[in-house]
Amino acid sequence: MLPARHALSRRGTIRAETAVYSPAMIRPGADPDDVRMADVLCDFCRGPWTLDRPMVEGHRGAVICGHCLTVAYTTLVLERAASPVDFDCLLCREGPRDRAALERAGEPGWTSPAHAEASVCRRCVKRAAGALHKDPDAAWCKPVSPGGRGDGPMQPTAASADEDGESDG
Ligand SMILES: [Zn+2]
Ligand SMILES: [Zn+2]
Repeated sequence: MLPARHALSRRGTIRAETAVYSPAMIRPGADPDDVRMADVLCDFCRGPWTLDRPMVEGHRGAVICGHCLTVAYTTLVLERAASPVDFDCLLCREGPRDRAALERAGEPGWTSPAHAEASVCRRCVKRAAGALHKDPDAAWCKPVSPGGRGDGPMQPTAASADEDGESDG
């Protein structure tokens, strides 16, 4: 049984026959009618979906894992580090023009250090973090500011770089 996935689009649990997975997400050779957790890969680090690597789904089956979300949230929300503004968000599919039309021009995003084509906008990072934070099964908490603003007793679960080292060049 697959655990419920967190869908920004409120679709709830994804059924294999209705899910639209982008090719990058599924390992080559995986049976699309029997998608297993290990077949679902984070679009940002290509890490497999595991119990300690929860996934949040955006539109069109793009997913970001809890590890990447921690880094993205820390970078964009806590550190407000210099970030790209000219990118297409993988999760909501909005580009610079879409954001400008929605009066979000100049909104920064986070780009995966491992996969430069994978970026996510700040809005999606916040929404995904909110969805995952609320889920008791996910065991994922929003990162808190190192300065300690004291808005939560929980520590971030995986602020460290726990990379698989997998790279397909
Ligand atoms: Zn990831
Ligand atoms: Zn987005």
